[in-house]
Amino acid sequence: CGIVGYIGHQQAVPLIVDGLRRLEYRGYDSAGICVLGPDQQLKTLRAKGKLAQLEQQLAQQALPGTLAIGHTRWATHGKPSEDNAHPHRAGGFVVVHNGIIENYLVLKQQLSAHGHQFRSQTDSEIIAHLIEEAYKQSADFPAAVCQALKQLRGTYAIAVLCDQHPDLLIAARNGSPLVLGNGEGEFFLGSDIPAILSHTRDMIFLNDGEVALLRRAELQIVDLDGNRRPYQSKTITWSP
Ligand code: GLU
Repeated sequence: CGIVGYIGHQQAVPLIVDGLRRLEYRGYDSAGICVLGPDQQLKTLRAKGKLAQLEQQLAQQALPGTLAIGHTRWATHGKPSEDNAHPHRAGGFVVVHNGIIENYLVLKQQLSAHGHQFRSQTDSEIIAHLIEEAYKQSADFPAAVCQALKQLRGTYAIAVLCDQHPDLLIAARNGSPLVLGNGEGEFFLGSDIPAILSHTRDMIFLNDGEVALLRRAELQIVDLDGNRRPYQSKTITWSP
């Protein structure tokens, strides 16, 4: 299971697929990708099985865009299927998640009572709905993600896109790995260093409880209360 993300000026799909390929060794049962297109629409493709299945779909459907997230899933809640494959969507928000949300059933019930409808059996889908719900209150994308994460118990690495924010990729972690790669006017995101090492050697390691706000020319890291956190980048000198 793994996560890859990209925001920059290059076409994102080949970069995401390459990253997912490098994460294959971690094991997975399905894969998916979401791209924010120049028309500001979020387009998602998901496939059960090998990455090759997803690539077949991608060969038939061009997904232009310079902001995207990808996922390989190792099912913990809900069988391997296209519906359960990530990314998951609620309103204008799309989420990929690695980890396990322990209190997802309680949260799912609360969200259902507020009219949310679920399309998967995963624990992960609730994250998208929690963000959608929080955004209704604040209309602030980073604040909505933080508000959602505060309600979770369990482990996660996540990446989130919103169709109202074509210049922002949000990522966060708690107990699951996530590393950021600093490029030239672009940022990469991966579950491990080799996933993104062919694009940059300048890495930033996210800590538990931190949220990364990735814009093409700027990175901010905040805690769940929105307070800025200092960070340092490290130059990776080894090769895989
Ligand atoms: N618990 C989530 C699911 O079953 C994420 C699994 C993973 O880490 O790939 O969909």
